[in-house]
Amino acid sequence: MVACGLVSLMWALGLWQGLEQATYGPLLRLRGSIPWDDRVVVVAIDQKSLDALGHFPWKRDRYTQLLQRLDQAQPNVVAFDLVFSEPTPEDPGLAQAMSRHRMVVLAEAWSPQGEPWQPTALLRENALALGHISDQPDLDGKLRQIQPIVRSKPGLSYAALQAYQLFDADPNLGQPSSMVWVNWTGPISRIPQYSFVDVLSGQVTPQQLSHKMIFVGVTAPGMNAITSPFDLNRTSGVHLHATIANQLLQNRPLLRLSDPQALWLFPLLTGLFYSLLWRRRQRSEFWGVAIALFLSSGLWMAIVLGAFHLGWWLPIFSPMALFGLTALLFWLDYGRRLEASNLRLGHLANYDDLTQVANRRYFDQHLQQEWSRMVRERSAMTLLLCDVDFFKRYNDYQGHLAGDVCLRQVALAIGTALKRPADVVARYGGEEFVVILPNTDLAGALQMSREILQAVRDLKIPHGDSPISPYITLSIGAASCLPEVINGAEKLVAEADRALYKAKRSGRDQVSWYYDIPAPTPVDQP
Ligand code: GH3
Ligand code: MG
Ligand code: MG
Repeated sequence: MVACGLVSLMWALGLWQGLEQATYGPLLRLRGSIPWDDRVVVVAIDQKSLDALGHFPWKRDRYTQLLQRLDQAQPNVVAFDLVFSEPTPEDPGLAQAMSRHRMVVLAEAWSPQGEPWQPTALLRENALALGHISDQPDLDGKLRQIQPIVRSKPGLSYAALQAYQLFDADPNLGQPSSMVWVNWTGPISRIPQYSFVDVLSGQVTPQQLSHKMIFVGVTAPGMNAITSPFDLNRTSGVHLHATIANQLLQNRPLLRLSDPQALWLFPLLTGLFYSLLWRRRQRSEFWGVAIALFLSSGLWMAIVLGAFHLGWWLPIFSPMALFGLTALLFWLDYGRRLEASNLRLGHLANYDDLTQVANRRYFDQHLQQEWSRMVRERSAMTLLLCDVDFFKRYNDYQGHLAGDVCLRQVALAIGTALKRPADVVARYGGEEFVVILPNTDLAGALQMSREILQAVRDLKIPHGDSPISPYITLSIGAASCLPEVINGAEKLVAEADRALYKAKRSGRDQVSWYYDIPAPTPVDQP
């Protein structure tokens, strides 16, 4: 959720835009060329034409001659990517040719200050339509999108297409959206293109230009150059307009996700990626996450490439960031989950299932620790071995289930009787519990023992088959000593066991003791 929220927020703020736009060229190049619609051609004012007909700008007679040529190839639409704004003496001739041809679209534009830059009134009147050629490259100088309608005027390619519809009803223009991504079809060398001078000289036959949408514009190097992904600085405006006309005719737009679509996509991708991480969570943490990241990124790139072929330009950087961030957070969280599961395992390993007090394993470890601590501190240490009296009979009489419940209650009673944080009760085995009392001498131990005995008596668990009491009772063997390095803790356990045996023989429901403390300790009798 954190990763998804962050990436979506950055999307909503437009922070991905620059990076995502940078994928435009590489994706187009990876996709490669797509077929060109042969209804769209370019008549190029190229270097060859300039060499033959003189430097630019030309007298407008040239265009009059061109229209006369194209007249023979009717029907066709001629769209000039040139703004005839200055009146010249040749204008009436051109106007006449335009009116005879009937299907001429002229270009208009606006100055950076917003002033209209239009063909002369005479030419305007004789044109079928006007189309704007105001197209702005992105900040990095690359032209990726055009605005179909500016100040309610259609772009040159749209105007040309509308004209084309007059004799070819096929193209379906649809509703031009606010911005249209240019779906460059490949290198400009693949665009059907005739040299202006070749058309004038009749080297291009009328059949070659019949039923075509003809874009006329300057392609000579160094003039009107724009940058497209396939040709750096060699593309020109006329190629752009022809390309737009081509993608509209073929109905091959380049679509991007709208904001709401993208904001659906991110949670979906996060969900899928997270479930992948979750399924692989047993694998070794780092490499498991890294492999999942690698697989997902690869899969997403494959989807992006596939979608691009279908005309959908999907985001790359934002999903990658989403995967990366999710993976990072998952990996960081892995430590926390590992710790939690270790804790759980630790609990399972150290606690007794039935009574929920420490188990024998824990007791063995803990006793050694406490023993060493008491050696260092030169302080007394006591063990209490507590055994339920006549428990076999209790089981036989009340049943094993009741026996289990009884053991739980006894364990709880012993645990509750302990007061210091360092005091520990553990299940020693069967119906025997052992209590470790560090920093406790025999006097304290006997005091504790009596409290434990009383606590168990106070439980008043009925024992119908006990010869000594109507209720469950305990016998306790207490053993105290001053721990030394040489004699281990095992001896103290053995002494406690012996004391317990003594308590049993002496009639049960009591404590017997053993102690091995050199200094005289005041001991009051139990
Ligand atoms: P004593 O007073 O001499 O200690 O006699 P006792 O019957 O308590 O001693 P004994 O060692 O003969 O029997 C212990 C019994 O405790 C045997 C077993 O049935 C019972 N027991 C051991 N562990 C459990 C357990 O987890 N649940 C239940 N219900 N009974 C247990
Ligand atoms: Mg026993
Ligand atoms: Mg017993």
